[in-house]
Amino acid sequence: MVKLSNFSSIFVANWKLNGNIEFIKEYYQKLLPNSENCTVICAPDIYLNILEPNNKFLYSGSQNVSFYNLGAYTGELSAMMLKDNEIKFCIVGHSERREFFNENNNMVKQKSINLIENNIIPIICVGETLDEKNKNMTQDVLTEQITNSIPEISNYKNTIIAYEPIWAIGSGLTPTLDDIEKVHSFIKNIKIKFNQFKILYGGSVKASNSRDINNLQNVDGCLVGGASLKVDEFNRIIS
Ligand code: PEP
Repeated sequence: MVKLSNFSSIFVANWKLNGNIEFIKEYYQKLLPNSENCTVICAPDIYLNILEPNNKFLYSGSQNVSFYNLGAYTGELSAMMLKDNEIKFCIVGHSERREFFNENNNMVKQKSINLIENNIIPIICVGETLDEKNKNMTQDVLTEQITNSIPEISNYKNTIIAYEPIWAIGSGLTPTLDDIEKVHSFIKNIKIKFNQFKILYGGSVKASNSRDINNLQNVDGCLVGGASLKVDEFNRIIS
């Protein structure tokens, strides 16, 4: 398992359903990983084997894993298969998977267990909708998601949490720095054990706001969607 304590910050690129072989060649020619930080490129699974091999500060990650480990589940990829292919990180419970693929907390929890048992670090995503935020429900929603989707076996060495307010994803909107700091601090205090967890922020991170966000005391890095597709911009984010 990658030793998370080696890094001051962790930056995760979530390419979603984007990229092709040409794109990947050009991306890695230009990508400038920073040796103080951990950079994780989460490409579509079919391309994971043609990404640059892992090194001390640059890793490949998956965007999803099967709930199941083995058997008659057409089209699925198991945690064991990811491990077989040197994958060290995997996003789970992204809001797009919760919304479009009906992934619930229980599934997120089981997927995370499967990953941890295969020495892969789950990046467990949580976050509130705009409606929930406006109703002052953010803390309740996060408590419910975190309590029910993070398994008992998770600890600060084998699991990362990503706070991604759903209304900030792909919208160009972000919470205020003060709000991000408050939410991260809240998450770290939901249970004593979360105090030491790495907590990433995700939602419209770009080169122009990443430094301020990442400099917040309780922010340990960023999960970057749209801006990670532009390698020059992503280089500025991880620099
Ligand atoms: C995401 O998809 O996890 C994400 C944070 O997207 P974006 O950076 O585009 O808001």
